[in-house]
Amino acid sequence: MLIERAAKLDDEDPLRHLREEFDLDPGVVYLDGNSLGAPPKRVAGRVEQVVREQWGRRLIRSWPESWWTAPERVGEKIAPLVGAAPGQVVVADSTSVNVFKALVGAVRLAQAGSPERREIIVDAATFPTDGYVAESVAEMTGTLLRPVQVDEFDDVLGDRTAAVLVNHVDYRTGRLHDMPSVTAKVHAAGARVVWDLCHSAGVLPIELDALGVDLAVGCTYKFLNGGPGAPAFIYVPRELQPSFRQPLSGWGGHRDPFAMASAYDPDPGIARARVGTPDILSLLALDAALEVWEGVDLAEVRAKGLALTGFFIECVDELLGDAVEVVTPRDAWRGHQVSLRHQDARTLVADLTAREVIGDYRAPDVLRFGFAPLYNRYADAVQAARSLAELLTSRN
Ligand SMILES: *Cc1c(COP(=O)(O)O)cnc(C)c1O
Repeated sequence: MLIERAAKLDDEDPLRHLREEFDLDPGVVYLDGNSLGAPPKRVAGRVEQVVREQWGRRLIRSWPESWWTAPERVGEKIAPLVGAAPGQVVVADSTSVNVFKALVGAVRLAQAGSPERREIIVDAATFPTDGYVAESVAEMTGTLLRPVQVDEFDDVLGDRTAAVLVNHVDYRTGRLHDMPSVTAKVHAAGARVVWDLCHSAGVLPIELDALGVDLAVGCTYKFLNGGPGAPAFIYVPRELQPSFRQPLSGWGGHRDPFAMASAYDPDPGIARARVGTPDILSLLALDAALEVWEGVDLAEVRAKGLALTGFFIECVDELLGDAVEVVTPRDAWRGHQVSLRHQDARTLVADLTAREVIGDYRAPDVLRFGFAPLYNRYADAVQAARSLAELLTSRN
């Protein structure tokens, strides 16, 4: 029954043609696009062209011809995916580094008129790097770091709060946080919010401009399929750009980098969020990968992601019963992954991988399955649930 339903859902899927854009091994059920997106077919040829032509033939001339401004150019391709008007997103550095830049920038913005704001609130369940970086930012800025569950932000937000760092989708549970409501609460307290969009960029509509979000960062190698270690992005809205002072004042963020001036004078626009020389090969691989999104309606992507994850939960309920616990919310407050809890999660994930069903494991006991609406099928959902059911049965 589930298999027939999956076949029908796949047939009726308005996005099914997009799978053709990806270079996927037909023997593998790939459910880890939330950790490393699959490669769009066009990327390999583009990277070869960049190496042979831009690097090989144009050599150093490629910097002024196209490379130096690539971070802004590629940023403009991400902007519509996160609800940002042009001139506000740049691709640079890693997410960890951008969290650092954004959070220090947020504290400085908040303290500009209110030096008594000496607390940073961080989502207590955050992806570790965000928490580690926040701890260092707190130490450097002389603020107090308060790790708090998102549901309890109300209890701690106040006139001592400088900045709040929060994940849009929880990497472990897949829970989706309410961006409009959290942003409004932080602003009502007079503080600044930094959203981490690592697990949501590209798979659900995001309205950074409309919500008046202060700063945002995100990965490009997850659902945006930019490739391993592809550079991350950072969003700084236009009205905050003149007062956004990030801590890594490298020459890449200078108003006139090639003037080689002795004093740092930041670019008036989004380029001030840059630091040093961009990693061109990864950046241009990402540039090619992002072409896949042209003409794709994010509302449709979101609808498919909810349907796929919902269908997978149904398969799990039916085939696995209560052998596993579904950790991910069953309502619409979830991203595009389903997390299951089982005490042997680590070995189960390894055994699934041996059967070419690839999800991942998150300590201590979570099996994670990411559903990338651009290339995952309902058939993948059934197959993963069936393989897991077989594994659990064979162990009894
Ligand atoms: C994946 C992820 C990161 C990764 O940061 P890197 O600097 O790219 O290693 C950071 N934060 C969150 C929330 C993530 O999901």
